[in-house]
Amino acid sequence: LTAADPVLDHRICVCVRKRPLNKKEVGRKEIDVVTVPSKNIVMVSEPKSKVDMTKYLENQNFRFDYSFDETCTNEMVYWYTARPLVECIFEGGMATCFAYGQTGSGKTHTMGGDFTTGKAQDTRKGIYALAGKYPTIGVTVFKFKLISTKLVKSCEVFDLLNKKCRLRVLEDGRQQVQVVGLQERRVTSIEEVLQLISDGTRCRTSGVTSANQHSSRSHAVFQLILRRSGPRQILHGKFSLIDLAGNERGADTTSADRQTRVEGSEINKSLLALKIDGCSLVISLRFIFDPYNSCLTNVPFYLPLVHHECIRAMSQNKQHLPFRASKLTQVLRDSFIGERSRTCMIATISPGITSCEHSLNTLRYADRVKEL
Ligand code: ADP
Ligand code: MG
Repeated sequence: LTAADPVLDHRICVCVRKRPLNKKEVGRKEIDVVTVPSKNIVMVSEPKSKVDMTKYLENQNFRFDYSFDETCTNEMVYWYTARPLVECIFEGGMATCFAYGQTGSGKTHTMGGDFTTGKAQDTRKGIYALAGKYPTIGVTVFKFKLISTKLVKSCEVFDLLNKKCRLRVLEDGRQQVQVVGLQERRVTSIEEVLQLISDGTRCRTSGVTSANQHSSRSHAVFQLILRRSGPRQILHGKFSLIDLAGNERGADTTSADRQTRVEGSEINKSLLALKIDGCSLVISLRFIFDPYNSCLTNVPFYLPLVHHECIRAMSQNKQHLPFRASKLTQVLRDSFIGERSRTCMIATISPGITSCEHSLNTLRYADRVKEL
């Protein structure tokens, strides 16, 4: 990868990031089955024999807008993924960047920075903070004024900027959904932004023994909102950065499956509630219930798929969109294929041979999203 300016005109940019083998994996001599031979390609060498995992490898190639190998830093990932979206919101657009992948594959590391070190300054290195820094070098007249960080777990919405206070979700007659009392903080300096990210993230994992156990079952949404100055504070642009729940539950086939499914649909409802004014996630999730009800076990799994189906239908000028709720389709159109909205998906994968199946699931899924 070079520092050349990335220019991607399409609405959904799909990237993959491979993390390095961690100490534990190295300790048990786990084989790295993922290679990134060029900046677009990811290759997985899947063992064909369960007996001798080193033999009969079958190579599978996937092509993406960008593929990041284990040597890539968060800064590099940011440069090619979120940075163009920050530019988009300064121009008055709506943008969404989400990390999607198995638990432990690097979603939180990518989005929020590394909190496992316990050092607050490491939050500076995540995409949240890197995106938050942008306006300080920009020449635009707009400034960041509001920031909210949200956590969704099961049917619950918590305010991470207010001691994880539980919030009510209400829908008005126009199917616009409000999270009542969600705090938005006006900021005037990058230091304040970083402090809020650090506080919100610590709040996300507070009170639970295993941070990852908890975060693998919740979605965290961090939003940067630009408003015009003046008495009415009109919305100018909005960037939603989302650290999704782990996608591995989608593959569950255990007896806990039914439970997972119920939980999954509850998460769905709450997210759908969450997505709200102008932002994407909610709206697309609402559609999920219809076409994919039968296999609904995990929200993030179906999220981009829905964009895909809907946008393809619209691009082919189909009379009948694959969704029953036409009003919502209308909203989706604005959020996703509106002139000024853009989305970036960062699929994260673990390199080890024991994660091979999950990694392939993630890659196949990302592969479908990119076909837009
Ligand atoms: P997830 O949020 O997907 O469950 P995490 O981001 O918490 O996964 O990552 C799991 C562990 O791997 C963490 O200890 C994190 O520091 C480490 N890690 C993830 N991605 C990278 C990376 N690109 N480079 C170095 N360490 C990483
Ligand atoms: Mg995480």
